[in-house]
Amino acid sequence: RVFVAGSFNVDHVWRVATLPSPGATLSGSYATGPGGKGFNQAVAARRAGADTRFVCALGLDAGAQLARALCDADGIDLHAATADAPTGTAGIYVDAQGRNCIVIGPGANAALDAEFVAHALAGVAAGDVVLAQLESPLDAVARALDAGRAAGATVLLNPAPANVAIDETMLVRADVLTPNETEFAALLLRHVGERIDADAVGNLDQQRLHALCRELLPHGSVVVTLGASGCFVSHADAEPRGDTATFYRVAAEPAQAIDTTGAGDAFNGALAASLAQRPERAFIEHVRFAGRFAARSTEQAGAALAMPHLVVE
Ligand code: ADP
Repeated sequence: RVFVAGSFNVDHVWRVATLPSPGATLSGSYATGPGGKGFNQAVAARRAGADTRFVCALGLDAGAQLARALCDADGIDLHAATADAPTGTAGIYVDAQGRNCIVIGPGANAALDAEFVAHALAGVAAGDVVLAQLESPLDAVARALDAGRAAGATVLLNPAPANVAIDETMLVRADVLTPNETEFAALLLRHVGERIDADAVGNLDQQRLHALCRELLPHGSVVVTLGASGCFVSHADAEPRGDTATFYRVAAEPAQAIDTTGAGDAFNGALAASLAQRPERAFIEHVRFAGRFAARSTEQAGAALAMPHLVVE
């Protein structure tokens, strides 16, 4: 099983010719749909075939009804606390060049309670996977990771978004850390004291990337996702997780990408689902599956609803 603790948002997206400036009134085409890293990753894990529980906080409003209906439709085991706040929202403007401007209203997500999370994860067992991100209060994230560790589950931390600072005590809870280039650069600056431009991460040589990953998470595995360039994997020397190499690159799966929003979420959910369902496989096989799943997700517009139905074989 996969346990995902995290955020649910109702995304409101306006496509506009140019991004709004102060005092401007614009018109644009509007669309709404579900989002939030936690929910996106739970949908990905479920559609990759894993028995999936999603732990979050919702308001008492139409957004909460949407979350419940979508979890029902996908067969996700939803454990939602009811918060005295609106369900999370994101207001997103996208211009003609695809640039965006986003305002998040955390709402209920900011009220996700650590005790509630611990309770919802009480049934985690060895062989399960616990997956969390940083769009929830950090004490709740920490409790989710702790529940996984205590049970002997595999603990995945997707350190996103990049602007949320975590301390070493959070990092040491993770067996596997999955930053994208921006998040990796932010973690290196904060935890390793290295200033590396996010755009330069994919061009670093593998020895150097491995050394940086080892400094960041000495005991665990790091998967740095590199968009259309695939990803880089680094394991602790002592533990290659079934792989023959302690570090390597995996190319992206070719895709007719039309919208890469949520590619990272697709990757994380699929990685968790593969680890949970085929524990006997080498780590590289899980990473390849996650890459295939994420590539397919870029071929549909949207985030959660763009997750493919691609089950771990
Ligand atoms: P994020 O969405 O968090 O920024 P990335 O952009 O690094 O994450 O994407 C995560 C993974 O999704 C990549 O490692 C890759 O496997 C896959 N991916 C992303 N963009 C593409 C693309 N254009 N074509 C194929 N695969 C992609």
